[in-house]
Amino acid sequence: MSFLGLVASSTAGAARPFSEYAPLPAAEIRERTLAAKRALGGRAVILGHHYQRESVIEFADFRGDSFKLAQLAASRAEAEFIVFCGVHFMAESADVLRQPRQAVILPDLKAGCSMADMAIMEDVEEAWERLTRVHGDTFVPVTYMNSTAALKAFCGARGGVVCTSSNARSVLEWAWARKPRVFFFPDQHLGRNTGHAMGVPLDSMAEWDYRAEDLERQNVRCFRPETRLVLWRGFCSVHTKFTRRQIDEARAEDPGVKILVHPECPFDVVQNADLVGSTEFIIQQVREAPPGTRWAIGTEINLVHRLGLEHPEQQIRSLQKNVCPCATMNRIDPAHLLWALENLAEGHVVNPIRVPEDVRQHARVALDRMLALKGVGPTGADMARD
Ligand code: SF4
Repeated sequence: MSFLGLVASSTAGAARPFSEYAPLPAAEIRERTLAAKRALGGRAVILGHHYQRESVIEFADFRGDSFKLAQLAASRAEAEFIVFCGVHFMAESADVLRQPRQAVILPDLKAGCSMADMAIMEDVEEAWERLTRVHGDTFVPVTYMNSTAALKAFCGARGGVVCTSSNARSVLEWAWARKPRVFFFPDQHLGRNTGHAMGVPLDSMAEWDYRAEDLERQNVRCFRPETRLVLWRGFCSVHTKFTRRQIDEARAEDPGVKILVHPECPFDVVQNADLVGSTEFIIQQVREAPPGTRWAIGTEINLVHRLGLEHPEQQIRSLQKNVCPCATMNRIDPAHLLWALENLAEGHVVNPIRVPEDVRQHARVALDRMLALKGVGPTGADMARD
């Protein structure tokens, strides 16, 4: 039987279990995925985050960072299914922005984000209550895209907004034009790096340590009158692997190397890099560099590998030798993608992401505020250094 025949078969019966797919050989998975994609045609659009592995990203109709994929999800009104090869919070954002007749599918529900998991609602609500008790109504809550839909809804309901690493600067400008303080979560590094690049002194920032046993005492800096930016103590387990020492070693090996890092990296790494920016910015810098440019790049390894493949005229390596990929992003593997697509082609929606309606409405407010901001784009937070 042809693979196309297989995927175009009856829509009756139960969804195929994933256990049928896990043992399939890679070549068969690839062939059947191509067939399933053909069978679905324009009914399904596959969105792929830049951190996905090659064997998944090759099937993406569109690639992007979380900001670009959110825009794409909002604009692909013709597709019935949005198959999201990213992580859970990205699929949730797509579900918030989708048209009523669309469904968003995450091929593996275990594809989460350890950073997003660091800011749970109970802790954020407690922090907000304590901070506003001391500082009054002086905060705009700003959440990074890498957060749950519930947290985006929390911001939407309180005059707040979502940002991405592409537009954090524009979003913070918007927020400070409204209130004197910003409560930024969950990534302390993006908040600190962006605030500092905008001229906010480090001693006007404070970290909210949600794990502290005595919140009043541990977070005392957050309650000082001069604090303008309160940063949730979250971080990305991938980008915090990059260090100042790796930069020094890379430059010692090759004084002409260009250090290009993501703003989720720690402050001292960002301060000592040549260029800092979102994944879209990183791609753009490499694309536009002259042949022979030598790079040490501090971001997820799948993207660094792909840049090396797509730009053989340049010398590209990871800032950290032997760095691991993002484990949760890599839960989306070719077998899960095939499983989702063949089930869709047979009329079974597996792993739909459905944000509850009340959460969806407020999260949409926060996302729409971001999408409506003028000047938001690839240079919003991206910064070059002398
Ligand atoms: S790279 Fe970091 S922020 Fe992105 S999904 Fe993985 S853990 Fe989350």
